[in-house]
Amino acid sequence: MLSGAAGLWANGRPPTYRVRKGDTLSKIARLHGISVRDLKRENGLKDDLIRIGQVLKLPAKLETSYARVRNATESLAVPMLSWSLIVGHHSGIRNGNAAAYHRGHLRRGMSNGLAYHFVIGNGIDSGDGEIEIGSRWTKQLPGGHVRSSAVNGKGIGICCVGDFETGKPTPRQLESFLWLCGYLQETVGSRRLAFAVHKEIDPGHTVCPGRNFPTKSLRNRFEKL
Ligand SMILES: [Zn+2]
Repeated sequence: MLSGAAGLWANGRPPTYRVRKGDTLSKIARLHGISVRDLKRENGLKDDLIRIGQVLKLPAKLETSYARVRNATESLAVPMLSWSLIVGHHSGIRNGNAAAYHRGHLRRGMSNGLAYHFVIGNGIDSGDGEIEIGSRWTKQLPGGHVRSSAVNGKGIGICCVGDFETGKPTPRQLESFLWLCGYLQETVGSRRLAFAVHKEIDPGHTVCPGRNFPTKSLRNRFEKL
């Protein structure tokens, strides 16, 4: 949610843990309900060696972020619009989060700010795989993420933070993206949501979400959900 600009991270920083005597990566991971793999990835660790006093960044639990999406959606104060499409985007820059893009979109004259309904973090300015909920979702407003207002009125915009022409989405971003697509499909009821990415909607106008966004495999997996 935009009011919680830092999302799951207090003050825009990931929670940390100082290594104590007798700690191992698996013990720390178990203690915080996260995987050793995510703990190592978050800290760029190549092996299992840690030393006393070392400060480790703790990745946010994706389930926490998913629960927030469920809660926000179940407690919508307005009727849900009749969505028929999911549109995937990248932000085109490595940095940023929902609050930063919201400010940017307001500056660009979009009166409702953040053009997307959801933003999925990459671990730089919000959690890796963290789903931030935009006010266009909580208020059930059309998006501002594609050129056509008709498509904005029926398409749920999901933006992954990053530039996927040059970089790649993180595994946790893709995991959350797919989870969100599945949740949205479940939530809109009997209608089957179509799946598209921005450049399929506005061909020739944008490269979004970039050549390294796995559109084909995500679509395949989404269609099997
Ligand atoms: Zn886009």
